[in-house]
Amino acid sequence: MNLFSFKNLSLRTRLLVTMGVVFIPLVVVAIGSGIFLQHAAEQFNRLTEQPVYKLQTTSRLQNQIRSAHALVNNYASTQRYVLREQFKSEAQATENAFVEILAKPFLGPQEYTLLANARREWQDSVVLANRIFTSTAPKAALYQMDQSVNQIMFTLDQIYDAYYSEISAQRSQINEAESRFLLIIAAAIGFGLVSAVAGAMWLARSVLVPLREFEKGMTHFTNDNLTYRLDLNHNDEIGRLARDFNTMAESLMEHKTQLEELSSRDGLTGLYNRREFEDRLREETQRARRYGKSLSVIILDIDHFKNVNDRYGHQAGDETLIAVADLIRLSARPMDAVCRYGGEELAVILPETDASGAAILAERIRASVAESLTITPQGVEIQVTVSIGFAAFPQDGDTGPGLVKAADEALYAAKQEGRNLVRSH
Ligand code: GH3
Ligand code: MG
Ligand code: MG
Repeated sequence: MNLFSFKNLSLRTRLLVTMGVVFIPLVVVAIGSGIFLQHAAEQFNRLTEQPVYKLQTTSRLQNQIRSAHALVNNYASTQRYVLREQFKSEAQATENAFVEILAKPFLGPQEYTLLANARREWQDSVVLANRIFTSTAPKAALYQMDQSVNQIMFTLDQIYDAYYSEISAQRSQINEAESRFLLIIAAAIGFGLVSAVAGAMWLARSVLVPLREFEKGMTHFTNDNLTYRLDLNHNDEIGRLARDFNTMAESLMEHKTQLEELSSRDGLTGLYNRREFEDRLREETQRARRYGKSLSVIILDIDHFKNVNDRYGHQAGDETLIAVADLIRLSARPMDAVCRYGGEELAVILPETDASGAAILAERIRASVAESLTITPQGVEIQVTVSIGFAAFPQDGDTGPGLVKAADEALYAAKQEGRNLVRSH
């Protein structure tokens, strides 16, 4: 599935996805920062704990050695026995301190070597001290011990220096980790912002674009264009709404067509009604005028129709009227408009037909009515004739009402001259 195609995701899912897209980077930043901070704190503790321990131990060693050395010097000048005992315990403490620090796993090889050297030197000093304690002329040994202690101090100072450089190296490591952490945080926040904006845009687009299509559809509808269909092939709420909208448009269009059809027809005969006749006649005269085409109008009236009603009843009269209407419909061409003009007066608009064409059709109608019998459901046979008048555009009339008037006059003439006749203007 194309990630950026939103047509198949529901709006609900889209909202959740967008919220996820916005919040996930933030959650990742929060969790990541927590883990990183914990890790950094541990690292910092580890890094600082060891150098501090090493510095403290080295300094303690130096102090112990200095005070033990002072005890030996003191003994040499005073010969007080207690000083020897004090030295013994101080020497043991120093040895223990050496053992303790040398056992530490975190000592570097260089530190280890230096400390081991200092320890050896100290052990030599202890041997010298014992010689001083037992000798009557300890001057040479005293001098040697001074040298030895100085050497130990020098070695321990070297270790001090090594620790300092170790600490500064660790400090720069920590600084580096800190900048890396800041960079990660900045990248995550940047990513969060970009994805938030992209997510919001994606969501807005997925809703606003279809909304515009709906707006377009509504504009077409309000302008009475029911043929417009929404082009929203989505599988989400919007898609369903669009399909409902299109179905509604479809049924509205059907109803409208049915209504238009009903409102243009006469209920009894099914022919076009008077209003439709007038509309069509106006259009046809305009077209004939614009394109220089011919046009004719036929008006016919059933002869003595009152008598039919009087003799056979109104219902039989209706059936006769329907039969005459059907006959005319059969005689006319598909392009001709057959209308019920009045009570038992019918009219036919004949586009692209001149006076001679109208005369032929009028005669055909007249003859077919005269030759037909209407048989009512009760089995009564009714025979009627029609009188017909016709007029042609533009010579008999160059407007709709003008043509009707001319055809009417011709019809009057047909009646006057004996009925069952066709007359032109
Ligand atoms: P003519 O036209 O030959 O002069 O005589 P007519 O008897 O046909 O003339 P008139 O106009 O006097 O009468 C027309 C009659 O047509 C009157 C009316 O009762 C009848 N008529 C009009 N519309 C209908 C209809 O829908 N059904 C029925 N049964 N009769 C109708
Ligand atoms: Mg009449
Ligand atoms: Mg009549």
